[in-house]
Amino acid sequence: MYLRQHYNTKETPQGQAIPGSTQVPNSAGGYAWAVDDWTRLDRFLVLGSEGGTYYIGEQKLTVENAEAVRRCIVSDGPRVVERIVAISEAGRAPKNDPALFALAMCVSFGDLETRRRAFSALPRVARIGTHLFHFANYVDGLRGWGRGLRRAVASWYQDMEPTQLSFQAIKYQQRDGWGHRDLLRLSHPKAQDSRHNAIYKWIVDGELVGFGEAMDQIQAFAQAQVSEGKELANLITEFRLPMEAVPSGKRTKEVWEAALPHLGLTALIRNLGVMTSLGVLAKGQWAANTQVIARLTDPKQLKTARIHPIAVLSALITYNQGRGVRGHKTWETVPDIVDALDHAFYLAFDNIEPTGKRLVLALDVSSSMARCGDIAGVPGLTPRVGAAAMAMVTYKTEGQVALISFQDRIVPLDISRCQRLMDVVVATSGLPFGRTDCAQPMLWALENKVAADAFIIYTDSETWAGSIHPVQALQQYRRETGIPAKLVVVGMVSNGFSIADPDDGGMLDVVGMDTSVPQVIDDFVKG
Ligand code: CA
Repeated sequence: MYLRQHYNTKETPQGQAIPGSTQVPNSAGGYAWAVDDWTRLDRFLVLGSEGGTYYIGEQKLTVENAEAVRRCIVSDGPRVVERIVAISEAGRAPKNDPALFALAMCVSFGDLETRRRAFSALPRVARIGTHLFHFANYVDGLRGWGRGLRRAVASWYQDMEPTQLSFQAIKYQQRDGWGHRDLLRLSHPKAQDSRHNAIYKWIVDGELVGFGEAMDQIQAFAQAQVSEGKELANLITEFRLPMEAVPSGKRTKEVWEAALPHLGLTALIRNLGVMTSLGVLAKGQWAANTQVIARLTDPKQLKTARIHPIAVLSALITYNQGRGVRGHKTWETVPDIVDALDHAFYLAFDNIEPTGKRLVLALDVSSSMARCGDIAGVPGLTPRVGAAAMAMVTYKTEGQVALISFQDRIVPLDISRCQRLMDVVVATSGLPFGRTDCAQPMLWALENKVAADAFIIYTDSETWAGSIHPVQALQQYRRETGIPAKLVVVGMVSNGFSIADPDDGGMLDVVGMDTSVPQVIDDFVKG
């Protein structure tokens, strides 16, 4: 028996590599496949490395990811730039920081052509002042301020419309120790006209000279610093001042009400709790509530403002708690706003159509998915909770879906497609911890005679506790049922592993939390 036991390609314990395969050890003591650097680049751009994973600390994970990005830059820099722009511009990632960091790497380690393309992509990836400050901070840690870099930063200012630039100047004053003044002094943009010139002069010297719409807004900003009450509210309304232009001590109910009609959607979503605690939003405040709900559930506005579902989910979790993350403010939640956020979460994904296929959605709810590494730094949003929320998107769209969760056995999970996201979050975060066996979904389907065209597994691929590898369980499923079932692995952390065999065309790796993922899954499952 020992010969068959130690060299079995159909049934290999997860603590050993499948004989003859290219599997490598994962971080949990099991074996899986290494994802290639391009998949890793995508995982990094979408998921970042904030907080690390259960197995790898933030610092080590960041270095690993950065080295994969660097290898991609060396092998095909322009392709990296293209990828960064695609993911950043479409708003597919919860945070833009990994894209800005990867772009800083391109201008630091790329060849001439890569650097040229990266510089010209700067305004497309660094779309607002804060982005530019982050980029400056990253690039400052990687290279010197040579001519190409200075020119690219100068263009960022020169090419912007004056009214847009004045808005950037008052809304995003500084971040990470970088401000517009520092960047103007480093890059010396040539003022194209007197309007640009006046804005630069105000930023650098604080002098208020010049006329026109842009300068009016800056004048209003200056006036806002010394106004309050009705006068301040009027300035906000007339000059459409952003909330950042108002000193934090002066942000009263009256001020919020003045800002509400032109408040950016990102700011609106982040400040629902604050506005509710001040009574701007409350049960029975029809006008304000209706206005907010209409904006939250407008697919076009969500898309234009690049609102990521994770930002919505994060707001939902916080708002529903009835108190701020830092604990100072409390409020009585308005149920209609909770519902609007619930709706907005689904709207923030790309449009998807039902595949009509039979699907098994399987959530890895083992310890490593729940104990560490909050997604995009959102407190309480563990990969386990994120996986459940992602799965809901497909669950709600499709007709024939079995939603199950597993550790080293199937774990009962009581979620219906009509359930509110908040209930899904609570149901998922309350599950016990356990060991991991990613073969469980296929074994479950075999045992229960469940017909499935595809298994979609949301996991960190740190499988180790099973007596058979997930792909072997899938192959067994295909043999015994005659269904050429597919496997989609939705990677919920930015590590370097996958349970999918890269040489099997019926298996696919995608990155969890990418807004395009439900669509990609559908296309793949449909063939
Ligand atoms: Ca695990």
